[in-house]
Amino acid sequence: MAETENRPTNFIRQIIDKDLASGLHQQVKTRFPPEPNGYLHIGHAKSICLNFGIAEDYQGTCNLRFDDTNPAKEDISFVNSIQQDVSWLGFEWNEDARYSSNYFDQLHAFAVELIEKGLAYVDFSTHEEVREMRGTLTEPGKNSPYRDTSVETNLAEFAKMTAGEYAEGQASLRAKIDMASPFMCMRDPVIYRVKFAHHHQTGDKWCVYPMYDFTHCISDALEGITHSLCTLEFQDNRRLYDWVIENISIDCTPRQYEFSRLNLEYTVLSKRRLIQLVDEGHVEGWDDPRMPTIAGLRRRGYTPGSIREFCKRIGVTKMDNMVEMGMLEACIRDDLNTNAPRAMAVLEPVKLIIENYPEGERETLSAPNHPNDESMGTRSLPFGREIWIEAEDFREEANKKFKRLVLGKEVRLRNAYVVKAERVEKDEQGNVTTIYCTYDADTLGKDPADGRKVKGVIHWVDAATAAPAQFRLYDRLFNVPNPAAQEDFVDAINEDSLVIKQGYVESNLANPSQELAWQFERTGYFCADKNSTSEQVIFNQTVGLRDTWAKISNS
Ligand code: ATP
Ligand code: MG
Repeated sequence: MAETENRPTNFIRQIIDKDLASGLHQQVKTRFPPEPNGYLHIGHAKSICLNFGIAEDYQGTCNLRFDDTNPAKEDISFVNSIQQDVSWLGFEWNEDARYSSNYFDQLHAFAVELIEKGLAYVDFSTHEEVREMRGTLTEPGKNSPYRDTSVETNLAEFAKMTAGEYAEGQASLRAKIDMASPFMCMRDPVIYRVKFAHHHQTGDKWCVYPMYDFTHCISDALEGITHSLCTLEFQDNRRLYDWVIENISIDCTPRQYEFSRLNLEYTVLSKRRLIQLVDEGHVEGWDDPRMPTIAGLRRRGYTPGSIREFCKRIGVTKMDNMVEMGMLEACIRDDLNTNAPRAMAVLEPVKLIIENYPEGERETLSAPNHPNDESMGTRSLPFGREIWIEAEDFREEANKKFKRLVLGKEVRLRNAYVVKAERVEKDEQGNVTTIYCTYDADTLGKDPADGRKVKGVIHWVDAATAAPAQFRLYDRLFNVPNPAAQEDFVDAINEDSLVIKQGYVESNLANPSQELAWQFERTGYFCADKNSTSEQVIFNQTVGLRDTWAKISNS
């Protein structure tokens, strides 16, 4: 794939260049910190390409760290899918995958250190009371009655919390910062809570779990991360990130930098919503080809290179924006136009019989696998008296704009002969069921001898050898550009986002490789689906030949 050759440049890389030039760092260490509570999506790909891409380009390292502080919502199956997706995208993480839960002992010790320094306290206020005391954006909060508890008592209470003596919600450990801070996250945030949950990594060892803001910065520091890159919604939390690092005994000072999230039109990129689509059965699963997940895009026929190229083209800034689906599609189309072998498939077949082609006679034609790349070779195309063509490629009457087969006129069969439609047979409803033609035997690979002009070319498959196939055509999953802005995004689901057609592919594709994608000539780019069987091949349409996103469902 023709990935943009030059290294990308962006404000984060400029910061790194400066930090290396000034000697602040000798080596760049980044990390990608997914929470294992869902599958990765194209937005995560942006973060992956940024973090791993920087590590590659600067000869640094990038850790894969599961941010697993919320055992109730996490699952080992997500841990596995995330590793698979990062590898598939073509990136290698530094050493073994890590887990925030690897650091639970250290995190607990740092919490105790904050208590000892008088910088954390156990609060027994209810959720409701904590919320009321927090204040608002325009009003300062109020100090909790537990804020001035002695260090000794706090140590004892935190020990009791850890020992399971308090119920969930009954006690929490809060950092003692500033209830009047203009940043809400600095108003004595909870850093540890009671949760009686089995954890996929630590089992039943803990009944207290550290909160994200406390965990993330310490995990970064323990791993020696130099540049901790996250999305803009954590901008305010940077104060808390820095406060924790400053107030514990650790001699590494990672710096957090924020960039804008990827938003993509006509889809949703929040795990909460993706989980809902899967759980409520609006899609077939996490890897449904309509999903914006890495697994869905892979099943749809996207290549790792096309996704990396997309991430390069969208760039990294601090500006919030909405990217058009056409941007993503252009990347896979560019890739497949160059790399996908050509083949023929008929999605809505109608029978064409060549009456002057001798009954029982067969021949083998040859076709190039790529029109502009001879190195991709040729393939054999069986040909005989009966073939399938696309129903929409025939009309009994049409004006000159219709460059396909018309009754009484000629058209070229791709890679084969010129045929002329002589008469049709119809069913009771008046639908054409068979088109009877004659062919000009002297037109294989050349124009008709008498100088007749035949402009149209249509695709076909040999009826005797064609393999039955199902074609799944996908349209956008939502009817509106920004479904997340709807009152209920589920109402904006496009009911026609999947159209299934039953047709034929040339015999060469009877047992297609799962690794390849094809351009079905005149139709689009397709790949074989994992649910194909020996009776029937299933093809997923990756993308149309041109930017016809809006038209797929009408075709
Ligand atoms: P979601 O909002 O979908 O639940 P998240 O941020 O909670 O996403 P994480 O698993 O915590 O999901 O994300 C891991 C990393 O990927 C984080 O650093 C996060 O900032 C980044 N990330 C998540 N979504 C996007 C996005 N749309 N664009 C860019 N980066 C993203
Ligand atoms: Mg998150």
